[in-house]
Amino acid sequence: MSTQYLTENRLVRCGCGRVTNVNMMLDVRALPPAVRGNREYICDGCRERWIREGRISREALYRAIGAPAEAIARVRALEPR
Ligand SMILES: [Zn+2]
Repeated sequence: MSTQYLTENRLVRCGCGRVTNVNMMLDVRALPPAVRGNREYICDGCRERWIREGRISREALYRAIGAPAEAIARVRALEPR
């Protein structure tokens, strides 16, 4: 019995060097260059590192990428400042 995948497994290399599936990349072009540098897409590892390092708060990141208000409210509840 074989498995039939619905899509191809499209791998990309993030600017950090990590190879990951393309659907794990986050479009950060809406962020100011002071935050994102020359990066246009980042992997989930970079996303969490940026937040942990204080480059941007999770709430500000969610706002910048146009996350729904419910998601922003959930972040605020889970990660109070
Ligand atoms: Zn990365």
